[in-house]
Amino acid sequence: MSVDARDRTARLPPVTQTTQGATVWLTGLSGAGKSTIANGVAQRLAADGRAVEVLDGDELRAALSPGLGFTRADRDAHVGRVGYLARMLARHGVIALVPVIAPYAGPRAAIRAAHQSEGTAYVEVHVATPVAECARRDVKGLYAKHAAGQIAALTGVDDPYETPEAPHLRIDTTGTDVSAGVDAVLDLLHQRGPE
Ligand code: ADP
Repeated sequence: MSVDARDRTARLPPVTQTTQGATVWLTGLSGAGKSTIANGVAQRLAADGRAVEVLDGDELRAALSPGLGFTRADRDAHVGRVGYLARMLARHGVIALVPVIAPYAGPRAAIRAAHQSEGTAYVEVHVATPVAECARRDVKGLYAKHAAGQIAALTGVDDPYETPEAPHLRIDTTGTDVSAGVDAVLDLLHQRGPE
């Protein structure tokens, strides 16, 4: 497993030892392991009595963005809405775990900046599982559908994914246990407050 954690200097008490909320955005390709890790982290935090919410990509698309598709503009609009919701939750003590692809760097940076400007903790985790492994897993059957010509604009295949340049944590889940990724995220949360 490759875990690349940066800038672990905490300026405030660790987010998991206070009632402070945080947004933990897990970005990466479909099937990378974002939801699996987010749910594992959520379970562990909830067991510690923390208020947690997993803002799952597909569920949120139906709830917040039913009219939006997968053009760049629509993806950006959807990501912006999710970021706004996460920030509202995090501001009020919830740890919002967001396993959403968020393929473009601009909206990711804007959400990070919006959190920082109001002192709300924000953590970016790049679940950097390579597309070949994601396609091998093909959890939702999207890669097979794409190969069969039934869908287009699949992130990392024929639609862009802008790799995060400075995530707080980068995890390639290939050949690793889910618990390794969950532990890495929890370690990060235990060590840092807002930027
Ligand atoms: P995403 O939310 O990124 O689209 P999912 O979490 O839904 O991806 O699916 C990832 C799949 O990969 C799951 O079936 C999960 O069991 C599997 N998997 C295998 N190893 C790992 C790992 N180390 N971490 C996370 N998921 C893993």
